[in-house]
Amino acid sequence: MLRIENICKSYGNLKALRGISLQVKSGETMALVGPSGCGKSTLMRLMVGLLQPDEGDIWFQGKRLTVQTSSTMRLKMGYVIQRGGLFPHLTAQENATLMAQHLGWNTKRITQQLHRLVTLTHFPSNRLKHYPAQLSGGQRQRISLMRALMLDPDLLLLDEPLGAVDPLTRSRLQQQLRNLIRDLGKTVILVTHDMAEAEFFSDCTVLMKQGRIVQQGNMKDLLQSPKQTFVTDFIRSQPTASFSSQLESA
Ligand code: ADP
Ligand code: MG
Repeated sequence: MLRIENICKSYGNLKALRGISLQVKSGETMALVGPSGCGKSTLMRLMVGLLQPDEGDIWFQGKRLTVQTSSTMRLKMGYVIQRGGLFPHLTAQENATLMAQHLGWNTKRITQQLHRLVTLTHFPSNRLKHYPAQLSGGQRQRISLMRALMLDPDLLLLDEPLGAVDPLTRSRLQQQLRNLIRDLGKTVILVTHDMAEAEFFSDCTVLMKQGRIVQQGNMKDLLQSPKQTFVTDFIRSQPTASFSSQLESA
């Protein structure tokens, strides 16, 4: 589905990505994890073609992502940017349906898809005419998700989708989002700085540090055979209490 080959990306003198190679298979859910500033969001922006790599190639469904091909290929990707990125002057409904309107879908098709997504994301339909500022963090998150799913993409990219949600709502949303991902059966790449969340959502976790991939695998692999002390240190620094017991038994 997606193949990334030796990607490097700098912002001026800052090397944000230093040779990233990755492969995501169709139907798989992959989590990108790592400390703030390690390059997770940069990698996502490259995957959707919003940024161009300095070196390396990205292949999506067998075709190379270039400046020329990226706008068409992006229609097959749903992207939830970090902090949601909703337009404050558009209502929930207008935010969710923006791309479909832009592509000239007819009203019936838009309404049908919107209501399918309202059900899927458990968004309260009496709030569709509200503006983002009038919605809770969880509701805004659902709208961002609806917007990403509107065109029924093959690949769903979620950059810290639950980052702006309060801890109480978060665990409920995690459960719902996981169910939704399973039900959709789509290929999903999810960014989080939370190792527990990565493990909860994904088939495979990719741990990054300073623009490089440190290790890839599931939590058990990372705990039992860490490739660097950073792996154990990173896991140990996670706030989730349940890890300490896993660490003891690893
Ligand atoms: P993460 O999502 O893992 O927190 P980012 O990909 O956002 O990391 O950032 C990686 C590094 O690149 C950080 O040091 C960040 O400050 C820097 N960076 C990100 N975006 C820009 C930009 N537009 N211009 C300059 N530096 C940037
Ligand atoms: Mg980020």
